[in-house]
Amino acid sequence: MRIIYKPSWTAGESSILGLNLYMGCTHRCRYCYNPKVLHVDSKAYFAGPKPKQNALERLQEDAKGMAKRDDDRQIFLSFVGDIYQPLKPDVDITRATLEILIDHALTFTVLTKGGRRALRDFDLLAGYPKASFGTSLVFASEKDAAEWEPGAATVKERADVIRIAHERGIPTWVSMEPVIYPDQALALIRALHPVVDHWDVGKLNHMNSPQPVDWVRFREEVTEALEGVGADYNMKTSLTELS
Ligand code: SF4
Repeated sequence: MRIIYKPSWTAGESSILGLNLYMGCTHRCRYCYNPKVLHVDSKAYFAGPKPKQNALERLQEDAKGMAKRDDDRQIFLSFVGDIYQPLKPDVDITRATLEILIDHALTFTVLTKGGRRALRDFDLLAGYPKASFGTSLVFASEKDAAEWEPGAATVKERADVIRIAHERGIPTWVSMEPVIYPDQALALIRALHPVVDHWDVGKLNHMNSPQPVDWVRFREEVTEALEGVGADYNMKTSLTELS
């Protein structure tokens, strides 16, 4: 495959194939490990998104091949960057990408912190049964979100967009990872469970926590909270491996 790939580190996690359209991300999350993992300068990474070279041409080839093989694995957009950043029209290949995936009847999911920018493509996702839409949310506090994810949409905006997706019949999910403040994660579940079809939960893992946290206790509390509302969820290995 040319641009769709199977990440070696996703075994057992929420998705199987990855599709990264852009290098770089203006959301500037303090916990972002992409510059380190990709061995790129963090200033350059957070300066702005650059589309992958010949991304649409490579995607056309991959999509054609997957359709021919009846390959129905889920494609995750995206492990690197975010497809709903403030993109200039000349670098914006997001909508064209979704159209190619839909034209080839492929299964995919979107994960974004871009808030309302995603609404422009809801006409494509609504009514297409093989797509789902997710947002990352780990803070209930706008102040903490602004401090940790300064370039991302507000908590309210991300929550509103999930509600709109749900209203339009698009399957929804929330990536609650990396949880930093357990009480805020629990508050998010209480507030949003009626409009969220699936939750992924994982803890802060690549840096020290700003405060001591009893993660085993959090795992019990979050399990109880999710099961209490009958939620579908996946607990990431960062929590399941704890003893
Ligand atoms: S949205 Fe993802 S890729 Fe972008 S800065 Fe945050 S963690 Fe990194």
